[in-house]
Amino acid sequence: MSGIKITIAIDGYSSCGKSTIAKQLAARLGYSYIDSGAMYRAITLYFLRNGVNYNSPDEVAAALNDIHLSFAFNNTAKSSDIYLNDEDVSQPIRDMLVSEKVSPVAAIKQVRSFAVAQQKRMGRKKGIVMDGRDIGTVVFPDAELKIFMVADPAVRVMRRFKEMYATNPHITIDEVRHNLELRDYIDSTREESPLHRAADALLLDNSSMTRDEQLEKVTVWVKDRAISNMVR
Ligand code: C5P
Repeated sequence: MSGIKITIAIDGYSSCGKSTIAKQLAARLGYSYIDSGAMYRAITLYFLRNGVNYNSPDEVAAALNDIHLSFAFNNTAKSSDIYLNDEDVSQPIRDMLVSEKVSPVAAIKQVRSFAVAQQKRMGRKKGIVMDGRDIGTVVFPDAELKIFMVADPAVRVMRRFKEMYATNPHITIDEVRHNLELRDYIDSTREESPLHRAADALLLDNSSMTRDEQLEKVTVWVKDRAISNMVR
């Protein structure tokens, strides 16, 4: 497979483990990994910090004009850190306050156009794994491999709870469940690019799979798509 660069789009509901498999794949293939959700979270953090009224198109446009997002590979964590106007915001974007506001912000048309344009640019040279909600449907509709991830809601809540508890021991399971349900609802019912499975996306249910098992399964899909792309 070495040398063959394809585009891998991973979509699905919140906390299905999209970023875990995306990072595993990128490391195995030597591809870059972009967490598109981190971009919407960083925009939301900027809006919160600056009191941007996101019901005002003018305020949103002015804020987006002042936002510069970039990623830098972190060798220790083996993943990319996201920078908002040159500040590493990888940690603050995971706060509950950002999680509560990110879906309404990500539903704004101007915000989506801003983020999608950058995501498309990042994927121009292929060799990329990107995860999110509209990657296979809107950002990379021609991706050679599209994966739509699902997992049992109870499994997803516990996964996210453990992740958040590490930095916030006051968090409760109910808060996490409520946030996931609300985000899934807003993300899949919004007018702009709602979350749905692309017709050509392969379904991955990882409710009872280990990380190694899912990596092996998806690696077979990657090989298959890379080879068929080579001979096309
Ligand atoms: O992936 P993560 O859960 O961090 O994404 C946070 C939020 O960003 C999602 O709940 C969704 O509202 C938004 N998002 C989106 N489109 C993407 C990625 C994320 O609308 N491609």
